[in-house]
Amino acid sequence: MELTSISHVGPKTEKLFQKLGVTDCESLRMYYPIHYDEYLPPVAAKAAVPGSKCAVTGHIARAVVVRQVRNMKIAVTEISDPTGKIRLTWYNAPFMRTVLKRGAVYIFRGNVGIRGGTRVMEHPEIYTPEQYDEKLRTLSPVYALTKGLSNNMVIKAVQGAFDLLPPVREYLPEQIVKLLGLMDETEAARFIHFPRTEEELNKARKRLAFDEFFLFILAMRKLKDSEEVLTNEFPMKETWDTEELIDALPYRLTRAQEDAWHEIEADLKGKKLMSRLLQGDVGSGKTILAFLAMEMAASNGYQSALMAPTEVLARQHFEKLRKLAGERKIRNLTPVLLTGSMKAAEKREALFSIASGEANAIIGTHALIQDSVKYKALALVITDEQHRFGVCQRKALSEKGSPPNMMVMSATPIPRTLGVIYYGDMDVSIIDELPKERLPVKNCVVDPSYRPKAFDFIAKQIGGGRQAYIICPMIEESEGLEAENVLDYTKKIRRQLPDVRVGMLHGRMKAREKDEIMEAFASGDIQLLVSTTVIEVGVDVPNATVMMIENAERFGLATLHQLRGRVGRGSFQSYCIFMAGQESEDIKKRLDILKESHSGFEIAEKDFEMRGPGDLLGIRQSGDAMFKIADIARDGDVLKTAGETTAAIMEEDPGLIDEEHELLKKKLEEYIASNERSIVL
Ligand code: ADP
Ligand code: MG
Repeated sequence: MELTSISHVGPKTEKLFQKLGVTDCESLRMYYPIHYDEYLPPVAAKAAVPGSKCAVTGHIARAVVVRQVRNMKIAVTEISDPTGKIRLTWYNAPFMRTVLKRGAVYIFRGNVGIRGGTRVMEHPEIYTPEQYDEKLRTLSPVYALTKGLSNNMVIKAVQGAFDLLPPVREYLPEQIVKLLGLMDETEAARFIHFPRTEEELNKARKRLAFDEFFLFILAMRKLKDSEEVLTNEFPMKETWDTEELIDALPYRLTRAQEDAWHEIEADLKGKKLMSRLLQGDVGSGKTILAFLAMEMAASNGYQSALMAPTEVLARQHFEKLRKLAGERKIRNLTPVLLTGSMKAAEKREALFSIASGEANAIIGTHALIQDSVKYKALALVITDEQHRFGVCQRKALSEKGSPPNMMVMSATPIPRTLGVIYYGDMDVSIIDELPKERLPVKNCVVDPSYRPKAFDFIAKQIGGGRQAYIICPMIEESEGLEAENVLDYTKKIRRQLPDVRVGMLHGRMKAREKDEIMEAFASGDIQLLVSTTVIEVGVDVPNATVMMIENAERFGLATLHQLRGRVGRGSFQSYCIFMAGQESEDIKKRLDILKESHSGFEIAEKDFEMRGPGDLLGIRQSGDAMFKIADIARDGDVLKTAGETTAAIMEEDPGLIDEEHELLKKKLEEYIASNERSIVL
């Protein structure tokens, strides 16, 4: 249903929603809050710390004064208690004089600031004590916004969407919902937006997390079951070529890399088709193992394909492999690149060499599994950074010949027990060790007063030939969220560092644009990249030595860990500057965890323990993640339940033909249709 069906939503507001990826009432209903604001009991004036949001009780002792400053009317009053005082101001709202009755008591709620040594609240919300009592402990949703769209507008629109649309239907058999103690789907859909209590929020969140895992696993099982052939039609032998390649590397493989390589090698030699997950933290060196497997396939006269989530990453892998092959002057490895944005002539040439078998190490993006690609003898398919991009159904590929061996590489930290559910019956190799020669990244936590120094430092590093990243939590200015944003920051830093070539990157840019920017950064054309967390995945620019994260307090530890992993990849000393907009004590404490632990999973788990209920969803702007709500680190138990439920249903009614599974079947079909490209097999 069109957004404009909602009253108060006109074409202009519709456009703003479209910017956020919300195109109709249905998608609006699934535009979940990024966190929740809790109405806490009022605090004493002294406890209203600048930088925090709180409620204070105020007695209006004197009438509100309205001052004229230039062309603006400013209404001012002061409230005080024995512990201190706070000034309240409203711009262009002279009517406040009559709204606030002299002698009355109100609760004022808002962001506390400081002006000339005095605590201030601008445009606070106003409640009578009775009204506030009713609000107390309730949670109000906070949405990711865009300029021109306020949080209140989104709240009203979401309510409107609920009024217009038929209720979300429960698709699970009643007895499963009861047995698992799940919140009903109809309720969960509403309470994720408008929970009355924290408990309600948690239950709604848990239910939706369950749905995400459950449908994902069920879809995976369904698609997999329809695939029968499991014998390896591409028997391979061990080859000296891989040993030579290992010897020719400028470094020695870590023990963990060697172990994983032997497992991969054994798979490829085996009679059974390979289905292996190669998991290793950022920078653990997964790529070289992919190259070794590709070399082994080539030596045995077969083709292999390596699929990357972005063109930048694909190109990067391709250049690396080509260099490696060239340096060793090996004749049996012929890499070719195939991406969606290549020119028609280039593409034709690549396709031809793939079909003829001349190219035997094919690197690319999604384009690799399109119908136009005909392989001569595709024996092995490797998917890189699966959690961001998914894909690769053996089925889709097997239509082009015998089904190939599959390897998936991922940096998503997940313990073995959960991995079994999540990745189905894939075998798992874990690289649990980082190369030793790396210089550890130097960390520091600073407050914004340090920013000029940080800029100087970055300019110096760039002057010395290095590159740097600056990460902001937001894409653009957003009402109600005080955080740096990429658009304004880029403008600011271009003014401050006019000699530096600055680029910017964020999730709302087109894929093609993003790739161009990353390409320019990888080649050194861009020296300083201002970005949201979209750069989190995969890219390896060893020349980048500074990672500065603005509003570091707004990110989860797991994300900070991934971001930090973007530097310290080369031989230069690297630095990570965590700029804490506020609560620097808290971020310091959290950072200690980062220093102590090198296991991404442990970090993610501890992170959730430290976060409050309001931060349940964190800031997620990317919108392209497989799961919007579920998180493996936090929802391990939900994942387990979802896995067990799937197993039970598949045993009882694999075809979902029972009447009680009718709605489930429909839901699953819809799910598969809209997620087909992201389900890994
Ligand atoms: P990831 O596992 O995150 O994909 P990469 O494969 O991109 O990591 O490797 C990160 C960097 O480490 C690359 O520049 C790679 O050449 C280098 N590298 C890989 N293995 C080793 C090793 N054993 N010793 C030193 N450097 C290594
Ligand atoms: Mg990688």
